[in-house]
Amino acid sequence: MLFTLANVLPAQVAYAADSHDIKMSLKPDDGAIEINDRIVVSGRDRFVFELAPWLDIESLSLDGAAAKPRRQGGGYVVELADSGRHELHFELKGRVPSRAEGSSGSVPAYSSSGSDGAYLPAYSGWIPLDLSTPIVYRLGIRVPIEHRAVASGKLIAETTDAGFYQASFETEQAGEPPSLFAGPYQLRERRHGDLRLRTYFHAELAELSDVYLDAAISYIRRYHDSIGDYPYADFHIISAPLPVGLGFPNLTYVGRRVIPLPFMRGRSLAHEVLHNWWGNGVAVDYASGNWAEGLTTYMADYALERDKGAAAARSMRIKWLRDYAALPAERDQPVRAFMSKRHQAAQVIGYNKVAFIFHMLSLEIGEEAFAAGLRHFWRQNRFQTAGWLELQDAFENSAGRDLGWFFRQWLDRRGAPRLSIGAHSVEQVDDGFRISVDVLQPVSGYRFELPLLLQTANGSERHQVTISENLTRLEWRTSAKPEYLHFDPDSDVFRRLQRNETPPILRDVSLDASAVTMIESSDSEFERAGRELAGRLMDTVPRFQRVDLDGEIDHPLLLITDTDDLPARLAKLGLRLPAELSAKGWSAAAWTARLDNGNPVLVISADDGAALQGLLRPLPHYGGQSYVLFDGGRATTRGIWPVKRGPLLLDFSAN
Ligand SMILES: [Zn+2]
Repeated sequence: MLFTLANVLPAQVAYAADSHDIKMSLKPDDGAIEINDRIVVSGRDRFVFELAPWLDIESLSLDGAAAKPRRQGGGYVVELADSGRHELHFELKGRVPSRAEGSSGSVPAYSSSGSDGAYLPAYSGWIPLDLSTPIVYRLGIRVPIEHRAVASGKLIAETTDAGFYQASFETEQAGEPPSLFAGPYQLRERRHGDLRLRTYFHAELAELSDVYLDAAISYIRRYHDSIGDYPYADFHIISAPLPVGLGFPNLTYVGRRVIPLPFMRGRSLAHEVLHNWWGNGVAVDYASGNWAEGLTTYMADYALERDKGAAAARSMRIKWLRDYAALPAERDQPVRAFMSKRHQAAQVIGYNKVAFIFHMLSLEIGEEAFAAGLRHFWRQNRFQTAGWLELQDAFENSAGRDLGWFFRQWLDRRGAPRLSIGAHSVEQVDDGFRISVDVLQPVSGYRFELPLLLQTANGSERHQVTISENLTRLEWRTSAKPEYLHFDPDSDVFRRLQRNETPPILRDVSLDASAVTMIESSDSEFERAGRELAGRLMDTVPRFQRVDLDGEIDHPLLLITDTDDLPARLAKLGLRLPAELSAKGWSAAAWTARLDNGNPVLVISADDGAALQGLLRPLPHYGGQSYVLFDGGRATTRGIWPVKRGPLLLDFSAN
């Protein structure tokens, strides 16, 4: 994830960058902060700025004379005499709120007593900032000696004396304001060529520094080789008291509790490293949609799966398709409307669908042209803001042909193609067999390459056909007897899976705003835990209803029930306890099924309120599964119900 402010920032206006020279001191333990900021502005006759409510302006001078800012809306204005060069000098003082207090404003900052540290993100108003203008800055920080502080920007100096640690940072390119991090960090450093890499970890994580630095170097080399030069002088990995994984220019801020987990230094670290190119090195033009999360997912998360082999890559694509199939049509949105991940529905589009689109683009124009297009895009847009149009330009340039139809159909349209097989026949003819199949596309207007696998008595052959009409009639002659024909055998086409192509998963219910939650238990503690769990699990506010399993259920259902008499309750829904759950040895379970009318059901059963309570944290992580069994709050078994034969597989063996 990239730290974004699509909702805060207005479209950028093209002024020369403001230059900030900031000197500040911070006591992370109690949040006491003093800031001295000299700002040189030009090109406009007023400086409009915002400031965090926890900061006071001690003094302000304009070109050497005392000045007073005027309140305007939630911010301030200083009138300048003309649009020439002016210098503003601010002295600010305040106390960064503690995490417990929370901070007002759209972007929270916090300090934290004890061993956690402080966090001042770029747009939290900790320096006077005119949001219409990118900035360049030089930043000097001073913190008590038991702490270390780090900011986005190039580290240019640091010193320690008896009482304090001091460090200075500066930027070379106009861009976003500094984000600042401080805490009782242990610092480890590695050099890789001209690049300086560091970990700023809490003491209990210090022994993980080496594996993190090694992994970061390998990812930076990988993207350096495939895209172009790493755009900054430093890269830091900073441990965060918050459960986050955020990318900033030349650093990533990662929750201290997830740093020990293997997925973090694998896929997640690769993702954050890659944001130095996509999202920071090239900034996102949010007005036309956020392409950076999907491209980063494709080149980091997905590429690492592909490294493991074709089967792993295919599994990830199928997972994306299953998640998309679980997304109700009314929560779908065109790719261009995606800005940032506010809920899971947005992730299904902005991360997964976009990554899938890059997969299809690479199949459409070939891997070589795809790779050349990315390098071209990087060269053309480095340290600038770019949107989908610039990406299209880059790939048209490398492919040498128009791709307008491709970007229009995948970015502007809501939804996805659907595929089914119509009339088909196999006929024995003189010299072998003639196969005829109608491929149906009920949603008009999509054009895509459809791979297929034809298995005959002589072996398998792969073909590819172009689908653009509602009905495409295909014919082949084969000398050997055809056995089966499998369309899209490797799931290379982004499409809405048919219901019987995909087993129900937890998300089929949790993403659906029309789903109804029923809690069946006479125990008030169970009921309370059930309500809390529904709130955590559902992507929208849960709709509770009194338990009634006797009538027709005509909506997706979340049934939270104790395990007394469970088979009898399920029987009312026409469901049976799956074999996977029949052996006891679990204290709570979540599993999916479909009612006869096609509506998905998510059953969560637990022995008692405590067992249900134990699902609050872990269960929301298993949205892509069909079933998960828990014992004492720990997942012991999980899986996806098997689908025996997809509807896009034509079996000729009966003929
Ligand atoms: Zn990201």
